[in-house]
Amino acid sequence: MSGCDEPILPVKDSQQTATAGEIPADIWDQLDDATRGAIAEGTKYVALTFDDGPRSETTGRLLDGLRERGAQATFFVIGTQIQCTGNECLVKRMKAEGHQVGNHTYSHVRLQTADESTAIQEIGKNNVILENILGEGEYWLRPPYGLIDSEKAKLAGTPMIYWSVDPEDWKYLDAEKVTASVIDQVKAGDIILLHDFYPSSVDAALKIIDKLQPEGYVFVTVEELFRIYGVTAEQGMLYATPRHIRPLC
Ligand code: ZN
Repeated sequence: MSGCDEPILPVKDSQQTATAGEIPADIWDQLDDATRGAIAEGTKYVALTFDDGPRSETTGRLLDGLRERGAQATFFVIGTQIQCTGNECLVKRMKAEGHQVGNHTYSHVRLQTADESTAIQEIGKNNVILENILGEGEYWLRPPYGLIDSEKAKLAGTPMIYWSVDPEDWKYLDAEKVTASVIDQVKAGDIILLHDFYPSSVDAALKIIDKLQPEGYVFVTVEELFRIYGVTAEQGMLYATPRHIRPLC
């Protein structure tokens, strides 16, 4: 399925036992840290993140694969890609199918070296595009290349998300190699960086899920990962995982 057809909600594995991700937010918020930690440690939660899309040739197939596997992900999208014909539908589909959508700037600028007005425009313009498609909300930022200085970080106005596992999929363009790299490095609480722009990365993502789900890994959105770990993501902070903040340059 691709485009703006009716979204189908993820299929839950009937063998799966109750996990933190299935506990309603209001109940979860009332648990103490020790209880939350014990539940979170019992299941290995990780977040797959995809940058630089949406792309019609690849993102629809990825969404199909995620839905078939009951896996959630986070997409940090670029404004110029959203504006390609038909791609607004992919963004709608992401949200409708339970994924998180975040901001990767309008045209993938290097925020660290951009002047202040360019940075404000690049973040703001893409935010407006997302609000027009998905409605008002907080669209967390992933700075292109993971680079942002402390002054621009204050302007971002949202939490910022880095990563803790980077298989350099854009460089290798090799699904087997990228899959092996992630399997080798991954642990509970990680945020994995991939790019839905490349067919090999879509193949890798689905292989990664197929290998890790039988080992007890559950794929959640970045927001959900923070909720599970009991961490409130703060504006202007750059997180590699809910428990690891990156220093700003
Ligand atoms: Zn990027």
